[in-house]
Amino acid sequence: MAREYLKKAPLNAQSDASDVGETVRTILNDIEAGGDAKAREYAAKFDKYDGNIILTKEEIAAAAGQVPDQIKKDIQFAHDNVRRFAEAQKETLRNIEIEVVPGLVAGQKSIPVNGAGCYVPGGRYSHIASAIMTVTTAKVAGCNHIVACSPPRPDVGVAPAIIYAADLCGADTILAMGGVQGVAAMTFGLFGLPEANILVGPGNQFVAEAKRRLFGRVGIDMIAGPTDSLVLADKTADPLVVATDLVGQAEHGYNSPVWLVTDDRALAEKVMELVPGLIDDLPEVNKDNATRAWRDYAEVILCADREEMAATSDDYAPEHLTVQAEDLDWWLDRLSCYGSLFLGEETTVAFGDKASGTNHVLPTSGAASYTGGLSVHKYMKIVTWQRATREGAKPVAEATARIARLEGMEGHARTADIRLHKYFPDETFD
Ligand code: NAD
Repeated sequence: MAREYLKKAPLNAQSDASDVGETVRTILNDIEAGGDAKAREYAAKFDKYDGNIILTKEEIAAAAGQVPDQIKKDIQFAHDNVRRFAEAQKETLRNIEIEVVPGLVAGQKSIPVNGAGCYVPGGRYSHIASAIMTVTTAKVAGCNHIVACSPPRPDVGVAPAIIYAADLCGADTILAMGGVQGVAAMTFGLFGLPEANILVGPGNQFVAEAKRRLFGRVGIDMIAGPTDSLVLADKTADPLVVATDLVGQAEHGYNSPVWLVTDDRALAEKVMELVPGLIDDLPEVNKDNATRAWRDYAEVILCADREEMAATSDDYAPEHLTVQAEDLDWWLDRLSCYGSLFLGEETTVAFGDKASGTNHVLPTSGAASYTGGLSVHKYMKIVTWQRATREGAKPVAEATARIARLEGMEGHARTADIRLHKYFPDETFD
């Protein structure tokens, strides 16, 4: 049986590709030429903010005073989990050293980038968790200077809990600036900051486009589009839990796709019946996002069996993938394209988004077909080195000279020749 669409989305990520390129290009050029003053101008224009840009110790302490104790404990809990997971990831980057040929040793080591610029979105929601995800991971990687940058609310400033989380997780500087101007400030080293070597973190289409344009000059984690989520559910799944999970992810934004893939028609129909009521029950802004996301971007797909469900999921390469079905080990083994996988009803995407330890900065819009999400590795340069004895250098130099000459690279060949003649003056070489 071919996939049957019980609900097909009229729109997808491509249909939403509005032209923000020109706007972002102009802002970046203006700020590069105009420096701090121009960045401030854009902050005033887009965020109605003319307060302090680099937060002082007093402002950070004042923000902490506004965060309720229980939330502080929750932030600490989430930070500890993200840190533990990132530390374990770092363990996988062990330095290596091997003798490639007798007398020639080559190695690999991982070096953290010096400066990390962590974008913490704050336009629509206060993404406290993004501060935890990006700053903690940069700290574990060992970056020397970590900037957390987040949009200020008009005339108020950055949300206190974001400031508190960024500080707790290890930010050296907190920048009250959002959007393109925030990204530019970190990249160009405005306001006395060291220039960032890598920009990480999610953001809206302006932030994503700014990172895309600056890539090359600075490293980036990925180009993130709207959040997307897919649920794989069989007849054992609870339709109310599935529907709640779909709605929970649809509230991200008006263009955040959610997809249900199942081999059980009754389950699909029950979920489709439940979703509108759950959306209706959300607070106003969330309801508006979820209503449009469900209407315009959501899909419900009926498959013949679990093999077709898995193949369908891999085709979509979702950012978040949930399995609520029997035989979780089979799914873990079979699925190959996702940013983060949530196996079984007892866990859910929001756990990973907020507090369970895996990173929530993940590939969207099908990018999970070629990359995973943010990890300690993104802040590390994996570099190589070598050294040799004269005997070890000999066969390598001979091969190098011959290959280089065949390539027409006489200068290269002579760097090998000079060593052969110096170390082995009594021998002749071709
Ligand atoms: P944001 O911080 O990304 O953007 C706010 C900034 O956008 C403002 O500071 C302003 O400078 C700029 N801006 C707004 N309108 C503009 C315009 N017309 N021209 C130029 N600049 C403009 O916050 P947001 O808008 O709420 O977006 C957050 C995004 O991050 C959402 O898309 C959300 O889904 C995503 N997100 C993703 C993840 C993930 O891991 N994938 C996690 C959290 C958030």
